[in-house]
Amino acid sequence: MAEFDFDLFVIGGGSGGVRAARMAAEAGARVAIAEEFRYGGTCVIRGCVPKKLLVYASQFSESFADAAGFGWSVGETSFDWPSLIAAKDAEIARLEGIYVRNLGSAGVEVFRGRATVADPHTVHLATHAHPVRARHILVATGGTPFVPDFPGSEHAITSNEVFDLPDLPASVVIVGGGYIACEFAGILNGLGAAVTLAYRGPQILRGFDDEVRAHVADEMRAKGVEILTGTDVAAIDKGADGCAVTLASGETRRAGTVLYATGRIPNTAGLGLEAAGVRLGRRGEVAVDAFSQTSVPSIYAVGDVTDRLALTPVAIREGAAFAETVFRGNPTRADHALVPTAVFTQPEIGTVGLSEEQARAEGEIEVYRAAFRPMNTILAGRDERMLMKLIVAADSRRVLGVHIVGHGAGEMIQLAGVAVKMGATKEDFDRTVAVHPTAAEELVTMK
Ligand code: FAD
Ligand code: NDP
Repeated sequence: MAEFDFDLFVIGGGSGGVRAARMAAEAGARVAIAEEFRYGGTCVIRGCVPKKLLVYASQFSESFADAAGFGWSVGETSFDWPSLIAAKDAEIARLEGIYVRNLGSAGVEVFRGRATVADPHTVHLATHAHPVRARHILVATGGTPFVPDFPGSEHAITSNEVFDLPDLPASVVIVGGGYIACEFAGILNGLGAAVTLAYRGPQILRGFDDEVRAHVADEMRAKGVEILTGTDVAAIDKGADGCAVTLASGETRRAGTVLYATGRIPNTAGLGLEAAGVRLGRRGEVAVDAFSQTSVPSIYAVGDVTDRLALTPVAIREGAAFAETVFRGNPTRADHALVPTAVFTQPEIGTVGLSEEQARAEGEIEVYRAAFRPMNTILAGRDERMLMKLIVAADSRRVLGVHIVGHGAGEMIQLAGVAVKMGATKEDFDRTVAVHPTAAEELVTMK
């Protein structure tokens, strides 16, 4: 009998795990994967993909309003949440099917159910009586929404539930000031809910460029989102007509739904990792080296469970680098430098590299900025400004950071990210001819 049933057992069928499983199988390894919820993981089932579909849906209200300035008369409009959710669910089910089929055609054995680690080479499957032995184990179990403990916290929902609400609540209190809180503030506001966002710090989106944060907060307020800063929630009481949210100040807000978006914690609870000798960090994340190897040589971990950069393309790159390293004999580190990212707030943010504050702390810089009304807002009569910033090193002239706020920022930053990754200077941007008329041309014409 062979010493191992598989060369690789992957725990978690999300972005990182699926990529690693497929690549390892394509390299000739005998691979199995287990998923306890739905294949596709957070991104496909209850993250990036359904979120973006909801963002698209929420933008129609502004488009209808803007249309009049371009000569259209749009009649009565109405929005039906159950129809949107049904369409979203159908698309998610389609994508999930593609994930499972792709695993099968790569030759990966697909298990459904929870898996735990018994020892450095053994996995227990909740659905199987017998343990499975594998030469390598990859932990790709992602993360789970974190909700702090306070009176009534059980009445709060998280991003896990928001995608399946039976109705659009008339009013929502969102707690948190990060990616998810700010994205859902835009979505729910655009769809017609009255949104209050309560954030404990002085300004939302900590970690982003300060001017970007202020600009986005101002524009979100202008679109109708109430943003309360320096605000904590003390208690939630649930009654027949919704929730009463008591703020630390003693003030109360009523809301149909309270959405907590206060970060995510790595999924390592009850996984058996510590007993198997795997070192975990302070937040329960799996501690790994640059090759995603844990303190137990046969066990690796990729994606959100390692608490490095919680983004889908990063989890995918980590999964690919792991497979390349272990199954193709080509030691490869996942590259976490200069990762471009978008926040699908309304208005949208695209950013790569250092913020003005981070760059200033590191040396002499020059900051180039443009704040302007984009062309599509003029006839619409919409008083909305776009913001673009280039952060440039004074000596080398290298562009250290690009920050864009406004329509299409996510699309633009993907390409600006290529230039920054290649080490482009401000002069490289300047000698690139503008594409006219676009908003992006401002990136190459800033003085
Ligand atoms: P996951 O995709 O979370 O996959 C882990 C899988 O493991 C899950 O399916 C889980 O069910 C399974 N699992 C856990 N424990 C076990 C077990 N013991 N046995 C079997 N299976 C198990 N990122 C972006 O880049 N862009 C975005 O726009 C974006 N939007 C987001 C919006 C929301 C609301 C959220 C929550 C996240 C968003 N993210 C976005 C982040 C992105 O979803 C994650 O970074 C990405 O999914 C991480 O991939 P992963 O493989 O590490 O984990
Ligand atoms: P974030 O870490 O982005 O934000 C968490 C927010 O919750 C912060 O504002 C934080 O405040 C606040 N917070 C934390 N603990 C508490 C507490 N006890 N009480 C009150 N507030 C608290 O997490 P998210 O949940 O928004 O998203 C998780 C990750 O998923 C993101 O960081 C991102 O990597 C990824 N993601 C990516 C998206 C994209 O690419 N577009 C979209 C959605 C998610 P403070 O700032 O003061 O610490």
